[in-house]
Amino acid sequence: MKLRTKIQVYLSVFILIIMLLVNTSVYFLFYKNATESELEQLVAQTELLVERLAKTTDTNEISELMNAFLPANGMVQVFANDGQTLEFKHREDAYKTLTGKFQAEETHEILKPERGVNVAVVTRPIIWQDGSVVTLQLSNNLVELSNTLTILFYVLLFASLILLIPTFIGGNILIRFLLNPIHQLTQAMKENIKGRKWRKIDLTNRSKDELYEMEATFNDMIDQLKDNYEKQEDFVSNASHELKTPIQIVKSYAQLIERRGKDNEALIQESVEAIDSEADRMKKLVEQLLALAKSKREAEHTKVELVQLVDHSVSTFKHAYNREIECIKNMESIDVKGNADQLEQIIYILIDNALKYSEKRIIVSLFTHNGDVIFSVKDFGKGISKDEQERIFERFYRVDKARSRETGGTGLGLAIAKSITEEHQGELTIDSVMGEGSTFTLVLPILREE
Ligand code: ADP
Repeated sequence: MKLRTKIQVYLSVFILIIMLLVNTSVYFLFYKNATESELEQLVAQTELLVERLAKTTDTNEISELMNAFLPANGMVQVFANDGQTLEFKHREDAYKTLTGKFQAEETHEILKPERGVNVAVVTRPIIWQDGSVVTLQLSNNLVELSNTLTILFYVLLFASLILLIPTFIGGNILIRFLLNPIHQLTQAMKENIKGRKWRKIDLTNRSKDELYEMEATFNDMIDQLKDNYEKQEDFVSNASHELKTPIQIVKSYAQLIERRGKDNEALIQESVEAIDSEADRMKKLVEQLLALAKSKREAEHTKVELVQLVDHSVSTFKHAYNREIECIKNMESIDVKGNADQLEQIIYILIDNALKYSEKRIIVSLFTHNGDVIFSVKDFGKGISKDEQERIFERFYRVDKARSRETGGTGLGLAIAKSITEEHQGELTIDSVMGEGSTFTLVLPILREE
């Protein structure tokens, strides 16, 4: 069943049930009150008749009184205690149906016959002219009340049915209001699935309700998907471009050997060295591409002691490069939560860059501040301009392509470092002044023992 039909049916049935409950209550309340009031009236009328009868002994006058107090749609009867009917007055033959008998106690009740209208009956023992105790019975068929109730029944039924019309119209407006945005959303999704159109929903002149929020979220999602898709495309095209150059170089040297290498030892030697170096370069590039992909995957995070990790990296670089690396720290040990291999990779990338892009000494420092551990690498190289600072964390971005190639750079190091930092809820920033040098700072939250 369509959502539109469902809402319409549920709404109509719900309103109909409510109307039925309300109208039935109104009907029965009216019925009870009106019936009780009819009975009270008949009781009062009987009391008055009894009073008047007590004051007379004249048979004619008694008969006149009986006629005068005869209810509009009923009878007056008097029964002796031997079963004889002493008086019997009625208006129409139709009301003659009610029988009675002598009874000593006073009663008043509503008789509900299976067919026909209800009858109010009042019986009262009185002293008759001859001094004996007899039963006076007044009864009244509640014809007017029955007619009024029939009219009330039809009025309420009609009102219920009439009310279904605005319910139906209101339901339709509500459905349109609810379903339009959903239709638009479905349409936009279908178009986006068919072709990569990045179709968004027009939200101009829309009130800011929950549906607006849903559509705005959809638009944000499309923006994000588009952004990610474009980044992905850029990444693939950059990666293939980066791989193309060394492959091309390898191919050229291979062709060179083939053409002129047979008797030229020196050329073969030069070509092999070049091919080896380009193979190294490709290997590094592929390794870094894998590291970048891995940084996004969930790595296992455990307690990592940072001082030891930094000390170990600094000493490795000192031995490998024979360069002056100063290490300053204000603690013996500090724990963070993370992946030791990935954190070591950031330290390597930052120290490696400082060594690559500067000639003087470098300073590595490790401090704690306000619940964070701050690791920084400072060099005294030529620095990075403000504009470049914003871009160096992008994948494959290199300030000086030629120099970077010379130093074996791929433009992926800082992108990997940034990505790992984000996975560790940390922050990686750069502070650099042209001509003076650069400082890369990594901030990580200190692990708190619960
Ligand atoms: P690469 O492999 O080229 O070094 P990175 O992502 O590590 O790639 O760095 C991106 C670019 O940022 C580098 O090509 C270089 O131009 C610049 N850069 C990085 N670190 C420094 C630094 N310490 N001093 C000057 N420039 C740097």
